[in-house]
Amino acid sequence: MQGAILAVGNELIRGQVFNTTSFWAARELLACGYTIKEILTVPDEKDLIIKRLKEFLEAYNFCLVSGGLGPTTDDITNEAVAAALGRPLVVNEEMVRRIKEREQALNIPHNPLRLRMAELPEGAVLLTNERAMAGYYLKIGEKILFCLPGVPQEFRHLLKTRVLALLEDFLPPSEVIRHRLFKFFGLREADINLKLKEIEDAFPEVSLGYYPVLPEIHVSVLVKAANEQKADEIFSLVRERLEREFGVYIFGYDDDLLEAVIGRLLLERHETLAVAESCTGGLIASRITRIPGSSAYFERGVVTYSNQAKKEILGVPEEALQKYGAVSEPVALAMAEGVRRLARTDYGLSVTGIAGPTGGSPEKPVGTVWIGFSCKEGTVARCFLFPGDRHMVQAYAAETALDWLRRYLRYGTLVPRYQFTCRG
Ligand code: ATP
Ligand code: MG
Repeated sequence: MQGAILAVGNELIRGQVFNTTSFWAARELLACGYTIKEILTVPDEKDLIIKRLKEFLEAYNFCLVSGGLGPTTDDITNEAVAAALGRPLVVNEEMVRRIKEREQALNIPHNPLRLRMAELPEGAVLLTNERAMAGYYLKIGEKILFCLPGVPQEFRHLLKTRVLALLEDFLPPSEVIRHRLFKFFGLREADINLKLKEIEDAFPEVSLGYYPVLPEIHVSVLVKAANEQKADEIFSLVRERLEREFGVYIFGYDDDLLEAVIGRLLLERHETLAVAESCTGGLIASRITRIPGSSAYFERGVVTYSNQAKKEILGVPEEALQKYGAVSEPVALAMAEGVRRLARTDYGLSVTGIAGPTGGSPEKPVGTVWIGFSCKEGTVARCFLFPGDRHMVQAYAAETALDWLRRYLRYGTLVPRYQFTCRG
């Protein structure tokens, strides 16, 4: 079963409001076995809405329209839908009653403009309930058209509670879909692609998508099959193959965050972490503390940006700073060890590098970052050369430090190798 989404609103095409409802609907519908072939955003222009609606209803089994159902004069979806279907607008008495009830409940004076919301295309069946005032569907032969409010909370509520069930009744999905996002760190997109091509060739039911969300690479695996059993079977085969091939580079799935994965691992092991940051300026600590409950395993994060701070707070030796510079192996080692000792944690992570755009030299170009890792087995440090601007170098450095800890917690690898490892 195929459908399309039409998001209506001047603010959406002017870049003032991000079209979240279409994004969300596409995800939900896909998970239920419906394929969305097109998502279109149009301004509040009646003729254009009519034109696109006609095209979508001609081409697909269903269409979802969002926005423009309200009482204000810029809300013209009802008129456009009526015109596209060649049906008159008629007053929906149920809607009139709801509008008046609401005015009374909120104790606001009657505003006749609000009754515009009750003028709906003939045949409209209300979807509204206590959480959403506007919204209806229309049957057009075998096809179905949903008109939902633009307010994201109301849209989502109606989609989840009404639209999916109605679709299931009227247009049961003809195929079963399994979808998962595999999140990678530490490999290049093209290298992942090279190996995954075989999977796509071997299983015609599988389609893969590659999304660099740098520094991570996200790979979407979509399986379409005739029934649940076949879909599950193919999905497991693909998952096993992916995990066998790339195991250590996959840090999570779907909405997983790297810092949350680490949090879970530390919690399971009843272990703790402290970090000492220089060029990442607290980014690692900030990511870790985004996760609720992180106080159970995160003891402290210190930002030692100057040499003085590195000496005073972490006990980095003056000679190491003088002889090798702040961006060096001895300093990264002393920082990781220092913070772990001070915080009395199981793990210490440290980062010291040159994020740029200035401060680079032929010997230590911008992007050079030393990362240190300290645990009961000892303390090690590695040098990396990260690509991109200041922001990107910081992002790569934070991600690598966190992933290093993950690789140790998960696989016991004391010194994992990454594509950006350069020395040491
Ligand atoms: P209302 O009764 O509030 O007028 P409506 O159904 O007419 O509801 P709109 O007027 O189009 O909806 O939009 C209401 C609010 O929802 C606005 O703040 C708008 O920016 C926001 N909105 C509309 N469409 C979307 C969308 N696709 N994604 C995210 N926000 C949206
Ligand atoms: Mg409106």
